[in-house]
Amino acid sequence: MTGPVHTPLDDIRARIAQAARIARRAPADVTLVAVSKTHPAEAIRPLIAAGQTVFGENRVQEAQAKWAPLRDEQAGLELHLVGQLQSNKADEAVALFDCIHSLDRPSLLTALARAMDKTGRRVPLFVQVNIGAEEQKGGCAIADLPALLTEARAAELPVIGLMCVPPAGIEAAPFFALLDKLAADHGLAGRSMGMSDDFETAIQLGATHVRVGSALFGARA
Ligand SMILES: *Cc1c(COP(=O)(O)O)cnc(C)c1O
Repeated sequence: MTGPVHTPLDDIRARIAQAARIARRAPADVTLVAVSKTHPAEAIRPLIAAGQTVFGENRVQEAQAKWAPLRDEQAGLELHLVGQLQSNKADEAVALFDCIHSLDRPSLLTALARAMDKTGRRVPLFVQVNIGAEEQKGGCAIADLPALLTEARAAELPVIGLMCVPPAGIEAAPFFALLDKLAADHGLAGRSMGMSDDFETAIQLGATHVRVGSALFGARA
């Protein structure tokens, strides 16, 4: 007799549940966003078949092409945008995605508000914070966060939390702890933090959404 095949998805689900239990949190309070960017539909279908419903992409055009057929095959899928968004793609992004993790500047806020007003579609948003104050990285500066959130509330945008990508190559925990504190300070429940290498640490520190790519799909080309 052969036992059940143990997939990377099984492994990640088990590790999320274990990390949540250690943190005395309910595993169901952590959403796994399976980041499928660069991977073809054939690599995604087995995860859908195994019950994974939430996926992440970082490019509007790639996501449009890839997910139209997948969504025809399976109802109830949730697509999250985890990459930087140009303001001129706001309409397409609001039409396509069920959640956007990368609101980081007033010009994009304006474009998203306009797109949502136009379509009547309300897409939950995370404000991305440049948590390590890195020159080249996306995300709003910590100092600019209060003003951006005030503006988002004035525009009645559905901001549900904060998101970060900590600096590479150093311990991520202090950055996750800082994002958790900033979210608490602003009364936001969502924390989108943690990737393949550090999602368990992020869960210890309050992540509600972990964005896992290579640990599920293998290395990207
Ligand atoms: C690609 C990407 C991920 C997934 O990264 P892995 O290290 O492959 O898990 C998560 N978040 C963002 C913003 C990404 O661009």
